[in-house]
Amino acid sequence: MGRHWMVSCPHCNAAIAQGVGYGDNIPDIWVPLIRCKVCGGLIKTGGNEYLTLTVNERTKLRANNQNNEFIEKSLDRTNNKDYLTFLKNNGYAIYPITDADKERFKDVRFDMYKNQLPSLSATQSLRNVGILIDEKQLDEKTGAFKQEILDNNIKEYKLNRKILRWGLIIGAVVGIILGWSFSYINQYLAILGLAIGVGCTVAVCYGMDYYYKHKEESLNSSKPAQVNNINNTQPAKKSEQDKQQYLALIEKCGIRFFIKYYRKILRLPLKDVDVTENYSSAEREERLLAAKKIIDLGLSELALTEIIRVYDDILDKEVIEQAKALLDEIRKPD
Ligand SMILES: [Zn+2]
Repeated sequence: MGRHWMVSCPHCNAAIAQGVGYGDNIPDIWVPLIRCKVCGGLIKTGGNEYLTLTVNERTKLRANNQNNEFIEKSLDRTNNKDYLTFLKNNGYAIYPITDADKERFKDVRFDMYKNQLPSLSATQSLRNVGILIDEKQLDEKTGAFKQEILDNNIKEYKLNRKILRWGLIIGAVVGIILGWSFSYINQYLAILGLAIGVGCTVAVCYGMDYYYKHKEESLNSSKPAQVNNINNTQPAKKSEQDKQQYLALIEKCGIRFFIKYYRKILRLPLKDVDVTENYSSAEREERLLAAKKIIDLGLSELALTEIIRVYDDILDKEVIEQAKALLDEIRKPD
C-alpha cells in the first residue's frame, strides 16, 4: 500500500531521499520537513505529522492498523521538544489531541505519548532526515550542519554522479560498437555485445569507486601532519566539551547505574535491559537514555577514567573495581 516517492532537493537538485508513503486521498503522515544533506536546505515533503494535521484533516483519516502505526510513530516524535520547537519555528501549528481522536483510533495508545521521553527510534528517524543533527555534525551558531560536512557531502555526491556518468558513457559506447560489429557475424552475438556493454558500466563504476577511495586513503596517509593540524587546532575546546557533556549525562543516569548496566546497555536494546531498581518508567528511561548517550558519543572511556579519578575514595571499593575492569575492557578490546 502507499505510493513510492522520491525527493530531489529544490535547492541543489540532489536526489536525497525515497521511500513509500501511505495514502492516496488522505494526507501522508510523515515528517513535514527534511533537511538536504548535500546543501543543508530545508525541504517540505508534503507530508504532515499527526499533531500538525488540523482536526478537519484528521477526520479524513480512516482508522486501520496502518494508520494507527503511523499515528504512533508521529506521536512518538512529538515527545521530542527539540523537534516541536523546530516545527513551530518553521510555521507549523501543533493541534492537541481531541477526545474524538481517542474515540476513533481506539488502538492508539495516546496516553503513552504525552510528556514522555522520546524513544531512541524516534530520535534516530529525526536524525536520518536531518532534523535533529548529531552533535558532532552540528554547527552551534546556525543550528544546521557544519560547513565542512556539507562540503564533504557535496564532494561525495558529485563524485558519485561523475562515476555513474562515465560508467554509462563507456558502457553505451562499448555495447553499441560490439553489438554492431558482432551483428555482422550473428544476430545473437549482437545481444552478447550489448551485455558486455552493461558489464562495462558496472566494471567502470566499481573500478572508479575503488580508485577514488584508494586515492583518498593514500592522500590522508601521506599528509598526516596536515590532518593532525586540523584536529589539533581546538583540542582543549573539544575535550572540555566532552567533559561537560559527560558531566551532564552522568548526572542524569547516575554513576552506579552507569557502571552496573554498562555491558547490558552496550549490547542489548534498551527495552531488554532488566533494571532491578524500583524506578518509575520515566526515570528508568531517562537513566537508560543518558547512559546510552555516553556510550554512543564515545565518552565511555572518559566517563570511567573520571569516575575512578574523582570518586576513588568515596565510592565502594567494589564499584571502583568494576569501573576499572570495564575500562580495561574498553582499552583492550578482543
Ligand atoms: Zn540540497
